[in-house]
Amino acid sequence: MSNEQQRQGVVGIVGAGLVGALNAIYFAQRGWKVELYELRPDMRLPVHRESRRGRSINLALSERGLSALRCTGLGLEDIILKASVPMKARMVHIGKQCTQMSQQYSVNGEHINAVDRARLNELLLDAAEKMENVTVHFEHRLTQADIETNKLEFVVADGTTKTYHTDLIIGADGAYSKLRSQMMRRMRMDYDQEYIDTGYCELSMPPAKGPDGKPTFALDPNHLHIWPRHTFMLIALPNPDFSFTCTLFMPFKMFDEIKTEDQLMHFFRENFIDSIPLIGEESLKSDFLNNPRGSLVTIKASPHHYQDKALIIGDAAHAMVPFYGQGMNCGFQDVQVLHEILDRHNVHPVFVDNKIRGLKEALDDYSGTRVKDAHAICDLAMYNHYEMRSAVTSMRYLARRKLEGI
Ligand code: FAD
Repeated sequence: MSNEQQRQGVVGIVGAGLVGALNAIYFAQRGWKVELYELRPDMRLPVHRESRRGRSINLALSERGLSALRCTGLGLEDIILKASVPMKARMVHIGKQCTQMSQQYSVNGEHINAVDRARLNELLLDAAEKMENVTVHFEHRLTQADIETNKLEFVVADGTTKTYHTDLIIGADGAYSKLRSQMMRRMRMDYDQEYIDTGYCELSMPPAKGPDGKPTFALDPNHLHIWPRHTFMLIALPNPDFSFTCTLFMPFKMFDEIKTEDQLMHFFRENFIDSIPLIGEESLKSDFLNNPRGSLVTIKASPHHYQDKALIIGDAAHAMVPFYGQGMNCGFQDVQVLHEILDRHNVHPVFVDNKIRGLKEALDDYSGTRVKDAHAICDLAMYNHYEMRSAVTSMRYLARRKLEGI
């Protein structure tokens, strides 16, 4: 074999968020040299930890995502589950009195898990960095990609530009993916983007004081709490430190109409009265008036790859509204499915005649199966927006659950 034939394949992954970091682990485990590029500075450094305070959100991690963590064989599932809070049911706070009704997720006691996004990302970065064939480049913002010549250009911390070549380029750079937009310049990729008129704002519910003076949860921790109000809703997910992270989902117009503290308190007294003492008036006012409003978008792209050269994964390929709690879970599953397909096609990161055998066929296969699944989850997420904010209180919905024995 010539040197060229023996060269180890290099994969460049853009984005060291949840999906990019997990994908780096999987590729490293199958023997690739992995270059992981991330726009932000290292989130694990104390200085950046500080600036994250008050902005960290929690996520529901389900079996779909757990399975992908488990498959690494690194014990990641156990570590993150130890730092999670299981949610066995939703607790619906109904009507003006906010009467609570528990609705189990499953007759078999299955549950989802509330995890801290930053903690999970740090865990994945730690695991990736421990592998000798992974290099993480922080403060690298992808600005250009030529998917024909495998060239990536980044602006780095000091404002200069750096260029890299990798054999396979993967975009795990989120909903507004730069790699996706660069791929679209070169190939026929169908692309569909839809914003909904609902935005969101996060509010923090601190721990309560238990009878013994120790911190405890202000609400039942084993539930995902929902205050469904048809056109808007409040939800709350527990954190291991006994706090809850609440998210208010509401049409932008309604956000804009609440301009003063008095208007805010009136709105909360009318709609979420039980939450006021739990969040605390001052904290509620400060969070609502200062925290950013996020927008929610569905993105569908097809195909997800270009020949044997580039691939998008996670939100870069299929961003979805968060009401099904499956965006990250689906991104983790992308990684698992991709590597099952690479196994099936016997793809090894070794160049033979300047090609990695089976890679193109494997990526064709990946888009062939994954695109339709990703689109289906995007649609389910959109439907669940209606279910969570409205249907959960309808008589028809409750009767159906009774019939199903839940
Ligand atoms: P991201 O998390 O967006 O990561 C992309 C990474 O790429 C980032 O680190 C970013 O800095 C980096 N990057 C971006 N551009 C560049 C560039 N040009 N160069 C280099 N790096 C770049 N999902 C669930 O499964 N369960 C939930 O309960 C859940 N709740 C949610 C609640 C809300 C309010 C929202 C908004 C989303 C929720 N999601 C949930 C969805 C979940 O957050 C996303 O699906 C998940 O973060 C996608 O991960 P990702 O790694 O693909 O993208």
